[in-house]
Amino acid sequence: MKDSLPPRLARELATITAMIGIHCRDHHHGEGRQLCPQCRELAAYAAKRLAKCPFQQKKPTCGNCPVHCYAPRYRIEVRSVMRYAGSRMIWAHPLMALRHLLDGRRRAPVAGQRHHNGLSIRDKNRTKP
Ligand SMILES: [Zn+2]
Repeated sequence: MKDSLPPRLARELATITAMIGIHCRDHHHGEGRQLCPQCRELAAYAAKRLAKCPFQQKKPTCGNCPVHCYAPRYRIEVRSVMRYAGSRMIWAHPLMALRHLLDGRRRAPVAGQRHHNGLSIRDKNRTKP
């Protein structure tokens, strides 16, 4: 099922799942690495949205995405998850956080200029629409 995701999206899914894990652990119960039912639902929802993402391989990270595909109730949840877990990712999953940072430099295939963070590597990887 989920293995059919292209690598780019599989990576995004791993990142969001890890973030939800951090947030859940610190906010909802704090034992084990099992997600609480609410967070499990959110993770499943994120997986579903990713599978349907119109950009697929060209997807920017969700934070940069011009399409807001989450239903409002999930969007609020996922936003607080990202706000909380974003900075903690670098300690919990350094490699994943780094890759996510690099993925974040990718621009959405459609219009919508966003600022990009001041990294200077990987510039040639940028694709022009
Ligand atoms: Zn939770």
